[in-house]
Amino acid sequence: MSTTADMSAQLFDVAIIGYGPAGVTLANLLGQAGLSVCVLEKEAAIYPLPRAIHFDGEVMRIFQSAGLRPQIEAISRPGLKGMHFLNASGETLLIRGGTNAHGPHGCANNYYFHQPELEQVLRDGVKRFAQVRVCLEHEVTQITQTPEQVQLEVRDLQAGSSGQVRARYVVGCDGARSLVRKEIGSPMKDLGLHQPWLVFDVILKKGAPALPDHTVQHCDPARPMTYCNVTGNRRRWEIMLMPGDDPATLVQPETLWKMVSRWLTPAQADIERAVIYTFHSVIAEGWRQGRLLLAGDAAHQTPPFLGQGMCAALRDAANLSWKLQAVLAGRAPDSLLDSYESERSPHVNEFIELAVRLGDIIQTTDPELARERDQRFKAGQPEIFEFPSPRLGPGLLLGDTAPVGQPFPQPILADGQLLDTLLGERFAVIGRQALLSSVTAATRQLWQQADVVQLPAADPSLSAWLDEQHVDAVVLRPDRYIMGMATSPKELETITARMPCL
Ligand SMILES: Cc1cc2nc3c(=O)[nH]c(=O)nc-3n(C[C@H](O)[C@H](O)[C@H](O)COP(=O)(O)OP(=O)(O)OC[C@H]3O[C@@H](n4cnc5c(N)ncnc54)[C@H](O)[C@@H]3O)c2cc1C
Repeated sequence: MSTTADMSAQLFDVAIIGYGPAGVTLANLLGQAGLSVCVLEKEAAIYPLPRAIHFDGEVMRIFQSAGLRPQIEAISRPGLKGMHFLNASGETLLIRGGTNAHGPHGCANNYYFHQPELEQVLRDGVKRFAQVRVCLEHEVTQITQTPEQVQLEVRDLQAGSSGQVRARYVVGCDGARSLVRKEIGSPMKDLGLHQPWLVFDVILKKGAPALPDHTVQHCDPARPMTYCNVTGNRRRWEIMLMPGDDPATLVQPETLWKMVSRWLTPAQADIERAVIYTFHSVIAEGWRQGRLLLAGDAAHQTPPFLGQGMCAALRDAANLSWKLQAVLAGRAPDSLLDSYESERSPHVNEFIELAVRLGDIIQTTDPELARERDQRFKAGQPEIFEFPSPRLGPGLLLGDTAPVGQPFPQPILADGQLLDTLLGERFAVIGRQALLSSVTAATRQLWQQADVVQLPAADPSLSAWLDEQHVDAVVLRPDRYIMGMATSPKELETITARMPCL
């Protein structure tokens, strides 16, 4: 009997279509919350070749909240050395600095990794949850939605049979060609960039020359290229296609080795793969229709100049996970799920627009424009390279200005503990003792009933943050974004009244 035939009797809380980075992260977060989940993935195994190689500190914090930080740290490399911009003659124009220090998320700001290894750690993480069922080689072919549930037609590719899976909500983590997006009928907003690049991955052999530890942007108008140290012996070049390039010739070993001959010879490394990707910049308009939702590349695609596509996918998972939990538990109305797109779409839009602008600068092929750019770099006008921390769009936020809508930092507390470990995956009120003690008894009781963490800001890092913001309390959502700030019991009570966990 096919896997799906024996599952049609069960109504899952959530079905996830697609087991790439978005799907596997969401499965971990929902599994950890005890929800019943069915994951459907058409491929038999993890895609063996890397696409993403970088994630940021906020994403490490999401892995931490999924209980997998040590395992991810074991297979990733903190990117401490920054990014160097070189002109056509190899002169350094600008260094966008790295740092040894922990960033605001209680870890390094950037990490490099081999994507199949990362996905394996995340898939192993899902095995912790008996109520999460993973069906590989199962392709979803049709989606039918009623007011109460969604029914999926699923083809078991190994058995050659079909069956149904039913769930209260379905999240399409099914990538750029998403079936769920087609079913919702969401148009794609085009942010302008569609540029083919060659991605060339090599594994260095013993005795290979020492290549830079840091990322290098070769801003050569004759052939823009990016070089990255991935992890271990893996190195990557991303190479822009130029007018007149023949894609079939470009991926031939002779052409590849010629393009990197300044640094390596064929005797010094093995080719892992060479493939041409067209980088897109698009966002779906409509991430939800009833019980269907989109996450990851199904909802947005960004050129990888900031290494942010997968990061955005994981932020989607973190935003959606606690909202699905609250709605499925009956603690919040279904309309809470509308705030998922309204919050996440402007946020990812900002990253994509910046990646497109950065791409325009790196991809300059006009020698005169390249000279002007190089002059600006040398004169130290690199405003565009500030890594953004956009606010979420309108949704479950009380306040119109930063830092409301941004992630709360994760300090290491005086006792050595990371803040998120202390808070858990819950709403939290961090405030001065005097304010926490002066809310009404009814509010305190609501916090207790809803398991809201109350943390007096005794730790110096927390009181310093409140001082800086000139407030006496801050309310955090389970995804660590700041929901609101307060200076009076009344303000704190207003925020409390909006918490969907109550
Ligand atoms: C060259 C390159 C470099 C990149 N570098 C970075 C980087 O450094 N950092 C970064 O953050 N991002 C980077 N990205 C982007 C990143 O790889 C993607 O954003 C990320 O993989 C998206 O994950 P996902 O889970 O949304 O989609 P996918 O990884 O595409 O997963 C979708 C899954 O859904 C499955 N599926 C589809 N349809 C069905 C169906 N009907 N039934 C069942 N299963 C289905 C597919 O088989 C697939 O496994 C890069 C991308 C490229 C191309």
